[in-house]
This record gives sequence, structure tokens and C-alpha cells, in this order.
Amino acid sequence: MKILVSGAGVAGLACALEFGTRGHDVTVVEYARHLRLKGTPIDIRGDAIEAADRMGLLAKIREQRIRMSELMQFVDSDGEPVARIPMAEVSDSDDDIEIVREDLVRILADALPDTATIRFSDSVESLTDDGDGVDVGFRSGRSGRYDLVIGADGQHSAVRRLVFGPERDYLRHLGVYIALADLPDEARPDRVSSMYNVPARMAGIARFKDKALATFTFRSEPLDYDHHDLDAQKKILVDAFADHPSWKIPQLLDAARADPEFFFDSASQIHMPSWHHGRVALVGDAGYCAAFLSGRGTSLALTGAHFLAEELERCETDHAAAFARYEARQRPYVTFAQDRVGQGRDRLIPPTWEAIDARNEHLRAASTPAR
Ligand SMILES: Cc1cc2nc3c(=O)[nH]c(=O)nc-3n(C[C@H](O)[C@H](O)[C@H](O)COP(=O)(O)OP(=O)(O)OC[C@H]3O[C@@H](n4cnc5c(N)ncnc54)[C@H](O)[C@@H]3O)c2cc1C
Repeated sequence: MKILVSGAGVAGLACALEFGTRGHDVTVVEYARHLRLKGTPIDIRGDAIEAADRMGLLAKIREQRIRMSELMQFVDSDGEPVARIPMAEVSDSDDDIEIVREDLVRILADALPDTATIRFSDSVESLTDDGDGVDVGFRSGRSGRYDLVIGADGQHSAVRRLVFGPERDYLRHLGVYIALADLPDEARPDRVSSMYNVPARMAGIARFKDKALATFTFRSEPLDYDHHDLDAQKKILVDAFADHPSWKIPQLLDAARADPEFFFDSASQIHMPSWHHGRVALVGDAGYCAAFLSGRGTSLALTGAHFLAEELERCETDHAAAFARYEARQRPYVTFAQDRVGQGRDRLIPPTWEAIDARNEHLRAASTPAR
């Protein structure tokens, strides 16, 4: 089949790999000018490990595995450690592989077969599904007809908007925003990552491999902004931390201002009754974003791409049956992941100074070895 995939993140690249190696003719359109490599380490968990194995990627993923969470500490305004994540919670099992997002994106992109190509700086603008195929118009002015269209274009998916309706119908805001910026001068061999809280805000330095990232999270009601306007997003971040010039926050905000690949988004979930309509289906955050607080978005992208490709192979020409079977297999993983957000927000970004102190006290007690 001739398949269009919108978005070259983990979900889109995994789809391209899975469809391409099964002999389909795959075009990926990516809005950005190149692969978006930014990101902290992410987790590949449970059955997503098997999906990665079936894609032939597991050995490469294991080679790049890191254990960042062993070196994470909360600090005070002088940079002195005040609490650590208890070692008992640091996952070190074969059921959870931690890998830098950039490494995973590169591994997927490098594995693409000749049957899959990525077209950057383009995006879907119109979709007309006449039952026998989908006519697609692109921002670049190009057009094409495809047997299937897969929306793997993230939390703010254009394919979802065009086929299923506006984002507000599906998005549940979890009350938190996240931002990431490169911080090249802060890379250090000890790779200790620090997090500093003020009420309802957290700024940090994530160190892994030879890199450092400025990380920010803050509580906020939903904000209205253009998801492709970086300057507007930087202004929101700077305003959110403007009253808190303590610790390294001014330096981290400078890094955010300077970074052309700055990343900003809300912690939100996408809940949809169905992820397919006609010849169009959604994979990854586009259909079922669980939010970074779940730690499972990348795993869902991998299982989703794998199940969809397997079902298309099994059902051959019957894409409707394949989409339904994909959804039935993937749905339990999504429900589980979306239910996992739990207490992450309260631990990461306590709302008051008292709550910050209580969190630190709790972590210190949990870290003290029993006598
Ligand atoms: C730059 C970046 C950094 C991230 N960092 C982290 C992190 O540190 N921790 C974490 O837990 N999660 C992070 N995430 C989210 C995480 O990657 C996903 O939750 C998970 O991997 C599922 O991926 P996805 O492919 O469904 O969505 P995404 O990773 O969001 O990928 C979607 C892709 O689609 C592209 N796109 C968007 N709109 C369009 C459009 N209209 N047309 C064409 N392409 C479009 C985007 O540029 C992106 O490349 C990050 C995402 C991005 C894009």
C-alpha cells in the first residue's frame, strides 16, 4: 500500500519502519526542518521492549541504555542537596530500559528501509477520504493520493484535527507545562542531575552522557498560544519564572532564550473513543497521549506502531478490520498508562514552601536505610 505518515517522532518513525519493512511504500511528512532530537531520557517498558525487539532494534537500544535516575537530587537555593529519589524506586530491571530520546530517534531513523522516505518542512493541510483512497493537500502546495494516512503528529496532531475535530474535544490538561533547553556549558562527567523547587515551579539541570539540558515544569491553567511560535512559548516560560531569580534560574532562562530548538508543551492527555476513521488512523500521542508524567508515552508509540503494522499484515486488504484489531490490542496499554500519572505532579512540583519541605522530608526518610 501507499501510506502517508504525518510526524517523524518516535511513533511516526516506528510506523515508517514497520510498514516499510513489510513492503509498503511509506512517505513521512515532518513539520520541522529536521528530526527533532531534543529530550530527556525516556523509558521503554514492558511489552514495548518486545515491540522494539520485533523491529530489530533491541540490541542497539541496549547499547545506548543509561541509568540516569540513579543520579537525581533535589537541591536548595545554594545548590546543596536536600533530598534524593530513594534507590528502591530507581528502576534497574530488564522490564524498563532508559534511553536518551535523541538516541532512540536516531536508532529508528537509521533503521528505515529504502521503502520509507521522510519529507521535512511540510505538513498535511487537507484530507479527503472517498472510501477508495485519501487525497491529501500539503502546506508546500504538493498533493498526493494514499491508501492509508497515519496521524503520528503528536499531542497537537493536525491529522486528528482534520479528521476527528478540534483538540479541545479530546484534550485533558493536567495542570502542568514543561520546557527543555540545551545547556552546553553545564555538561559534567559526574552526570548528577539537580532539581530546584519554588512553589508550583521546578527548574533543573538534567545531565546525561556528555549533555546537559535545562528543564522546567510549572503549574498553570491551560494557556492559549501558537504551538509553532517559539518566541511566544519562551515568553510564557520566562514570565512563569520571572519572580524567582534564585538558584540558577536566571542562567537557565538565558539558555531557554538562546535555544533555537527550545521545547515547550503542556502535560496533557488525549482521550478518544476511537483512533480510526475510514482510511485514517492515529498512533502515539496524536491518539492517546498519556503525558510525560506517566513515563509511558514512548512505550505506547512503539507498541502502537507494532500492533498496527502486524494487524495490517494479518488483515491484508481489509484496513478497517486491521484498524479495529489494532485498537483492541493497544487500548489496554493506553488505559493503564493514562491511569499512571498519579502523584508525579505533587512530588515534582509541590504547590507551597510547606509542601516542598514535606516532600523533601518524606524522601529523606524513605532514603534512610533501615537499621
Ligand atoms: C522535541 C520533543 C522533545 C520531547 N521531549 C520529551 C521528554 O523529554 N520527555 C518525555 O517524556 N517526552 C518528551 N517528548 C514527547 C515524547 O517524545 C512522546 O510522548 C512519545 O515519544 C510519543 O511520541 P509521538 O511520536 O507520538 O509524538 P512526538 O514525539 O510529539 O512526535 C510528533 C512529531 O510530529 C511532528 N509534527 C507535529 N505537528 C505536525 C504536523 N502538523 N505535520 C507534520 N509533523 C508534525 C513533530 O514535530 C514531531 O516530530 C518530546 C517530544 C518532542 C517532539
